[in-house]
Amino acid sequence: MGQELAGKVAIVTGGASGIGRATVELFVAEGARVVLADVNEAQGQELVAQLGPHARFKRTDVSKKDEVEALVAFAIEQFGGLHIMFNNAGISGAQHARFLDDKLEDFQHVVGINLFGVMVGCQAAARHMSRNGGGVILNNASIAGVLPGQALMTYRATKAAVIMLSKSLAIDFAEYNIRLNCLAPGHIRTPLTSFAPPGISPEVAERVKQAVGAAFDVNQPLKRTGRPEDVAQVVLFMVGDRSAQITGTVLPVDGGITAGDPVNH
Ligand code: NAD
Repeated sequence: MGQELAGKVAIVTGGASGIGRATVELFVAEGARVVLADVNEAQGQELVAQLGPHARFKRTDVSKKDEVEALVAFAIEQFGGLHIMFNNAGISGAQHARFLDDKLEDFQHVVGINLFGVMVGCQAAARHMSRNGGGVILNNASIAGVLPGQALMTYRATKAAVIMLSKSLAIDFAEYNIRLNCLAPGHIRTPLTSFAPPGISPEVAERVKQAVGAAFDVNQPLKRTGRPEDVAQVVLFMVGDRSAQITGTVLPVDGGITAGDPVNH
């Protein structure tokens, strides 16, 4: 490993699992000091214990503005600043088989984490960065934010909103020397795509699997479902100095899904 992030302080939300976890591990290996934020305290604490003094855990529900502001303050207090914010935490939120069965609380839950969480994450980080010479913000959207489909409608809507938010904020934040980009992963093998989150019914699991599972492995141009580590490498590039001239973009990490057959997603 190199020391691509030496001297940098980073926050990774949703860092206890999947893409966030792989990113925390890579950031620390690349010399960053990292605050892992998550609602999963057991997994978060377990990971920072493995990683040593360059990693800290802060229990944070990203849908709560106060907690996100406290998270940014914690990073500054622990490590003396904040240079990188990876707004990664997200949920699929599939609770019912059909959109018509969803309740307002179901919508609010997904929007609260996937959209509101990213908005307050951008705001809290940028308030600090704008007063301290700049920084880099990366938001984790999804190809579900650009491809319609017969499942996870609220999820798709939040990810589309994150993409537009990110492009617009990139223009706004440029004057503060803050770069802001968005990732759009395809199908990455994590607990989120196991189709068995707590409380999900077998009917929902099957419906979601059929709607989005067509793209798994064989239907991807690259014929391989992505791994969290594949995404983490792209995150590293997007937050580091090698991407110094990139802002306002949405980068697919999807094995070619969005380049290919629009039916198979
Ligand atoms: P994951 O379920 O493995 O990890 C998500 C993490 O977020 C978990 O540790 C969870 O505890 C945490 N989290 C959930 N709610 C939270 C909250 N309110 N506050 C703080 N943390 C919270 O999922 P993943 O696949 O690694 O997903 C990470 C991001 O990548 C999500 O935004 C997801 O939408 C996006 N994404 C994933 C895929 C995929 O195929 N896995 C594809 C496209 C986009």
